[in-house]
Amino acid sequence: MAVHSGVERVLAGLDPEQRTAVTAPAGPVCVLAGAGTGKTRAVTSRIAHRALTGEIVGRHVLAVTFTARAAAEMRQRLTVLGVPGVQARTFHAAALRQVRYFAPRLLEGRAMPELLDSKVRLVTLAAARAGLRTDRAAARDLAGEIEWAKSSLVEPGEYVVAAAKALRETPHEPAKVAEVFAAYEKIKRGNGVIDFEDLLRAAVWGIEEHADVAEQVRAQYRHFVVDEYQDVNPLQQRLLDAWLGGRDDLTVVGDASQTIYSFTGATSAYLVDFPRRHRDAVVVRLVRDYRSTPQVVGLANAVIAQARGTEARLRLELVGQRPTGPEPELRIFTDEPAEAAAVAARCRALVAAGTPAREIAVLFRTNAQSEAYEKALTEAEVPYQVQGAERFFERAEVRQAMVALRAATRSIPGQTPLPAAVVEALAAVGWAPDAPPPGGAARERWEALAALVALAEEYAATPELLPVGTAATVERPVTLAAFTDELHRRAGQQHAPTVDGVTLASLHAAKGLEWDAVFLVGLAEGTLPTVYARTAEQVEEERRLLYVGITRARQWLWLSYATARAPGGRARRPTRFLPRLDRSGGTERAGGTERAGGPAGRRPERRRAQVVSCRICGATLLAGPDRKLGRCPTCPSDIDQELYERLHDWRQRVAGAQKVPAYVVFTDATLTALAERRPGRPEELIAIAGIGPRKLGLYGEAVLALVGGSPVDEICPEKTFKNSP
Ligand code: ATP
Ligand code: MG
Repeated sequence: MAVHSGVERVLAGLDPEQRTAVTAPAGPVCVLAGAGTGKTRAVTSRIAHRALTGEIVGRHVLAVTFTARAAAEMRQRLTVLGVPGVQARTFHAAALRQVRYFAPRLLEGRAMPELLDSKVRLVTLAAARAGLRTDRAAARDLAGEIEWAKSSLVEPGEYVVAAAKALRETPHEPAKVAEVFAAYEKIKRGNGVIDFEDLLRAAVWGIEEHADVAEQVRAQYRHFVVDEYQDVNPLQQRLLDAWLGGRDDLTVVGDASQTIYSFTGATSAYLVDFPRRHRDAVVVRLVRDYRSTPQVVGLANAVIAQARGTEARLRLELVGQRPTGPEPELRIFTDEPAEAAAVAARCRALVAAGTPAREIAVLFRTNAQSEAYEKALTEAEVPYQVQGAERFFERAEVRQAMVALRAATRSIPGQTPLPAAVVEALAAVGWAPDAPPPGGAARERWEALAALVALAEEYAATPELLPVGTAATVERPVTLAAFTDELHRRAGQQHAPTVDGVTLASLHAAKGLEWDAVFLVGLAEGTLPTVYARTAEQVEEERRLLYVGITRARQWLWLSYATARAPGGRARRPTRFLPRLDRSGGTERAGGTERAGGPAGRRPERRRAQVVSCRICGATLLAGPDRKLGRCPTCPSDIDQELYERLHDWRQRVAGAQKVPAYVVFTDATLTALAERRPGRPEELIAIAGIGPRKLGLYGEAVLALVGGSPVDEICPEKTFKNSP
């Protein structure tokens, strides 16, 4: 009886497709589930259902998840559903457990080798042996390349060919990388330590080479579940196959459209080919999106509809299940500091209106982008936390650079222009303003230091922006010393640790998570897609990153970019991945024809009549009604309600007298703009979009009188036509 009600509880609240997945008989099951369709929920329910009906025993299940956090959540959910004892782990945690358990037997009493938690130190030694001098960032990139190779089951001797085939962008000559790789393996063995990939290999080896181990492991684990299967790599798949040993009680869940770790060797090929490899597999497609509003879902669908390539073949159109919500907003700013300030202001407003800060996230493409938001949120007094990365001023290269800048205040002549002085000072830490080095970590380091130069340019360009707490009358000196002081001041402010704040995270780190409000920032060509995305596949992965970002939002979604990095800087275009958000057709979207990183301004920008900016947040306004209004529709209105009513009343009478519809006189948007901005002079009147010389001539005097407080009765239609031609 109790068991029966437990089963009902598991099935209650699932949709028919989820139930199909949950109740499918033993054997291969493939759940192709879009973002937010409840695939983790379905897979968890399947385990619970099978255990509660007595079909399987919980401790014979191995559920593999992508992060330790996801594993803990799954264990906890299963316990709540009455199924304790399920092993929910990451591949690494599961392999570690297995290797530890069997080590005494396989190593004949020798201790299990120590597990390296980072390759960097040994890679540095290996690089030196191969004649390469590496700093930490360069070593990290080499380590990343070795990780890719090992995860892809590529040995040092096979590296050169494999890297060419996979179009790897290698940090050094491929032959040199192979040399470092071989040296690394040798040093590692000599030191008697193993790395994370070795751990997985050891788990595979234990099973493949030892019948008794295989038998025992397979007796323990009989039913397998893999969440986020689109991001499995060949080494992990090999381990999964070893665990299975030809059996097929395997449930996989994935979304090819969320494959975002290809650069580490992960591939959605296993997911895509699953139904072919398991002809008898039950294949379930989930399309109901329970996470996001139909508005967010609509945008996600539009973005992924443009996807090309293998992953796109399995694309599913999501159907939003939640009540209607606000439209996603697209905001355009003249520069990044303005963008960050507007985001921070909106975060503050959301928090003030009752959204907990932990339910808000600001997501960006690269960690170097976080500084602007750390600063803006600090200034707006909104608590935040940086997820999966260090805060900008805590990064080793930034701390080093600050020391170098301080030292340079004594050596660089005072009259050197600030940006030039900063560039000169950064030479001491090996930074040069020309092209960034290849490789992710070296590039991140380069970009973090480039961000300091950009800050210097901003500091020099906007001397009127005095540091908080400085008397406004004091002229701020644009010197290296003053700038360095300012950086230290910012660093100090941003050190304040927070627990319950707005999340700042890269799109990669946001995978699998959800928030009420999500800000996707920096959506400009060159940032997303990054200029480093050169091949069609790399560009597609960038598109999927945007898709992952959009689908994190439950309710509010903000998309923004700045037309220049710093005030007055080089013009940039919006990301090619965004469909036209604005119904009036004013976006300057360039279509999908340009190359990633193609020079901005290669062909002349289409001229728009006039740039109209939101007078509340400064965003460039594109939609006709918003331009008339003079602000974003979602920015707070400061309307004079009484004036609006008089204007409205007056418009009725004029339209009646002229026998035309009211909007021919003035649209609602123009009335709102008038009541918000209360123009006092004809020049101010004509500055309102929607009022040209003709309407100024026709209605100018009447409107100014109304704004001045005249009752409608005193402004008869005849008076209105006084000036008419
Ligand atoms: P992602 O692709 O981002 O990992 P997912 O497919 O794993 O997403 P879940 O995180 O399992 O999706 O579910 C998304 C949200 O929808 C969760 O808050 C979950 O509780 C809710 N949900 C899932 N299924 C249902 C359902 N049948 N009815 C109501 N809510 C549901
Ligand atoms: Mg999930």
